[in-house]
Amino acid sequence: MEVAETIESVRSLVKAARSKGSKIGLVPTMGALHVGHVSLIEAAAKDCDFVVVSIFVNPTQFCPGEDLENYPRPLEKDLEICEKAGVDVVFNPSPEVMYGAENLTWVTVEKLSEGLCGAFRPGHFRGVTTVCAKLFNIVPADVAYLGQKDAQQAIVIKRMVADLNIPLEIAVCPTVREEDGLAVSSRNKYLSAQQRKDAAVIYKSLQKCKKMIEEGATNAKEISAGMRRIIQQVPSAEIEYVSIVDADTLEKVDSIKDKVLVAVAVKLGPARLIDNVIV
Ligand code: AMP
Repeated sequence: MEVAETIESVRSLVKAARSKGSKIGLVPTMGALHVGHVSLIEAAAKDCDFVVVSIFVNPTQFCPGEDLENYPRPLEKDLEICEKAGVDVVFNPSPEVMYGAENLTWVTVEKLSEGLCGAFRPGHFRGVTTVCAKLFNIVPADVAYLGQKDAQQAIVIKRMVADLNIPLEIAVCPTVREEDGLAVSSRNKYLSAQQRKDAAVIYKSLQKCKKMIEEGATNAKEISAGMRRIIQQVPSAEIEYVSIVDADTLEKVDSIKDKVLVAVAVKLGPARLIDNVIV
């Protein structure tokens, strides 16, 4: 496994693989790798001949007051995980390599970036789409692997790739969960033992919603109220949103008729946790 810290070095490694006819898979991450990330690497390794994982804590997707400084950066451990998973190249650039002295070009996906997390994290998706556009230009892959855990992010990136005619397929992989259903996340590390236990209410609320819809409920307001009641069983849980939206357009749905994305964001102590299901 090679570790590339510069754009030139990762480009030349990918170019060499491509000249041999390899299909290239890219897994963009912010590091602090866990089984969720490994599932993306495994999907890439299954479909592709050459797997690149990027590890970059992207400063531009953090809002003021968020956890940029404290975000875990266990690079040695991450490299071990990548090596074990059969990754060919880890791209681990510095912020200077990615953004230079001053970055004047930004990519924004309108509408889709505005609701859900976008409403609570102003500028977040602009940072995500800009860094992904850069990564997709630096690592010209055939397929990029993203997690369903960040459903809005996957939809926004898919749209950016389509609108900018980037020759890249986006594969969205299922959310990997802990035994009690909590979506695995690098931010789960911030939780105390009690908060970690309490965090199970998030998935419990999503399951309840899924059951209600499958049993014929259609009133989104009533369903989300039921979900809120479950989350509120944990008095310290601070709900940012419980939203039922169209699974493609992310537009709010009042009466459920078609495929919906049910998405939740909850602050629990120091961690902001998100999760979703498609019903
Ligand atoms: P992050 O390092 O948090 O930016 O995540 C990098 C990629 O891993 C994103 O595409 C995430 O959606 C994906 N990911 C994070 N957690 C999970 C999970 N529990 N299951 C599947 N994919 C995940």
